[in-house]
Amino acid sequence: MSRLFAGTQFEQPATCERCAKPVGLCDCPRDAKSGRVLSPADQQLRIRREQRRGKFVTVVRGFTPRSAKTNDLPALFKQLKSTFATGGSLDAEMIELQGDHRDRLVEHFRKLGYPAKAAGG
Ligand SMILES: [Zn+2]
Repeated sequence: MSRLFAGTQFEQPATCERCAKPVGLCDCPRDAKSGRVLSPADQQLRIRREQRRGKFVTVVRGFTPRSAKTNDLPALFKQLKSTFATGGSLDAEMIELQGDHRDRLVEHFRKLGYPAKAAGG
């Protein structure tokens, strides 16, 4: 079957430059406007300790911009929960882990290639 826009300027690359999967199956984070794959280096993370009902949580923000369709956060979140042996929650642009893991998380994300900074007190 030939693709509708094959050979025209609208033709999409067949595979993702990051994970090498066909673009339709790829979950890599992409800029919502340009469609460009975001590498960890493009995502400036801020990691801060916050209190919820007297208990510490560690909040990671800065996973933007990305579309809902291409989102590698669920896999990353799962991996963090097991690495740090804790629970937490995830939304479109933020990961929250129970407990104070700020300094270890900064180190962890830097190893993954994210420019990560501790924020707050
Ligand atoms: Zn990909």
